[in-house]
Amino acid sequence: MNNQVTATLPLSDPTALPLRSVKEIAQSKVVVIAPHPDDETLGCGGAIALLRFLGCDVRVLVMSDGTLSHPRSQKFPSSVLRSLRESETLSALKILGVHASAVTFLGLKDGSVPLLNSPLKSSAVVACRNYLAEIAPQTIFLPWRYDPHPDHRASWNLIYTALREMSLSPRLIEYPIWDWDEEQQGTGVGAGEGDRESGGKFEENSPIPPQVIGWRLDIETMLELKNSAIAAYRSQTTNLIDDDPEGFRLTPEMLLNFTRPWEVYLEVKTADSCC
Ligand SMILES: [Zn+2]
Repeated sequence: MNNQVTATLPLSDPTALPLRSVKEIAQSKVVVIAPHPDDETLGCGGAIALLRFLGCDVRVLVMSDGTLSHPRSQKFPSSVLRSLRESETLSALKILGVHASAVTFLGLKDGSVPLLNSPLKSSAVVACRNYLAEIAPQTIFLPWRYDPHPDHRASWNLIYTALREMSLSPRLIEYPIWDWDEEQQGTGVGAGEGDRESGGKFEENSPIPPQVIGWRLDIETMLELKNSAIAAYRSQTTNLIDDDPEGFRLTPEMLLNFTRPWEVYLEVKTADSCC
């Protein structure tokens, strides 16, 4: 079975990737990094529910405030939208078995998660380092480092940079969100998602796409819970905010990628990693 995938086409044939059980990845302390409120549920909702079912301590760090999803809404100005999206995150994660006390909102501005040379990067790295030091996770789920969305790549970069300055060496498991088809890559995938694409997909992280190992996690037993958790994000999946015609909406086509009985994960293949 070919489970070698490249950075440019990580999801070209996901059904060919090996299917794994959650017991192969269960650790007592797990952190999930979400660039925006909803990424943790879309990308890792099944894993979160399974890990919580096994009694693992799962914490979630939401990097940005999600306020670019409906930037022109009068009914939901930025401060209101931020609160709404936070409450949706807490509702979704409650469904998946994560208590509100295990959820942290870093509050970075949506669309502006600091990139490599941003003056805001150092303070964001410090915040990430402090967060990780307190939890000392054995596993971190984080966005795929080559995701087309700049906030996703920047989130990966912040965590990676924070870890380089620490003695922790957790297992890093990356999840794709916007890589599912060529049409979504580099085109801007809706207001608040992908609209800061700078043209070079890999420029902030590494000029050489590494070989990675791709695998699927069997989440069939938790799929119903995951679907309920996704539905908790009403601002992103319904017409709840109806006064911004350019507002972001997760379409049924997009949601198909996240409502399969498995989730796709990617890990960088290193000399001491196994596949
Ligand atoms: Zn996102």
